[in-house]
Amino acid sequence: MPSKRASSATRPAATSPATRQSAAKKPQPKPSPLNKTAPQKPATSSELKKVASQIVRQLKADFPDADCALVHQTPFQLLIATILSAQCTDERVNLVCKELFRKYKKPADFAAAPVEELEVAVKSTGFYRNKAKNIKACSTELVERFKGQVPQELDALVSLAGVGRKTANVVLGTAFGIPTGVVVDTHVGRLSLRMGLTQHTDPVKVEQDLMQLVPQDEWIEFSHRLILHGRQVCAARKPACERCTLEKICPRRGVKP
Ligand code: SF4
Repeated sequence: MPSKRASSATRPAATSPATRQSAAKKPQPKPSPLNKTAPQKPATSSELKKVASQIVRQLKADFPDADCALVHQTPFQLLIATILSAQCTDERVNLVCKELFRKYKKPADFAAAPVEELEVAVKSTGFYRNKAKNIKACSTELVERFKGQVPQELDALVSLAGVGRKTANVVLGTAFGIPTGVVVDTHVGRLSLRMGLTQHTDPVKVEQDLMQLVPQDEWIEFSHRLILHGRQVCAARKPACERCTLEKICPRRGVKP
């Protein structure tokens, strides 16, 4: 199945910050039960679902074309790029992968490459020894167990070297359109906590909470949109609440006034 290619040309929303101004023509969300002006009591599950649905709707309006920022042509390329993206920016991974995929085309090429050669090729993404070792081992397993194809099942994917649940969710969701979970990266984790959608910081627990609150057919895009919102509006150190379209909904947990 052909994989999607994310590029700035195909991601208009990524270059257009979500601002109150841009949402001026859209219906504004009503204050939610989680808002700081509401009585301070634990939100019920149905209240949380209502808030989550408002957030899903607003982010869809703000970032209608959100997509994965890792440039790739095939599910295998996305798998390698996602392994490399740990503790590294998407921009750096895209730069490294451009050269990497020019030299190594398929799993058999990576499997046959000396690990020292892969280390040099991925060095600038950080943790390069581990990443090179995992990429070689993962590619070897793909060749030996899956006929060189990326499997489309969660269990099979997480059995590969260097592939955890997050990486598997990225590949299944973005490359195959299969929503097996919500990708929780640093942005998704931070925003979910601030928005009151979870009380946890552990990505596995955050994902479990989001899977309860967000409809399954929204899981893939919801994650892409939260990541863009985190990059463009709700930054880690200085969230731009004053121009955020979610300001009326968001309880801004942990955000200094
Ligand atoms: S920018 Fe502020 S209001 Fe918007 S999601 Fe982040 S914390 Fe909430």
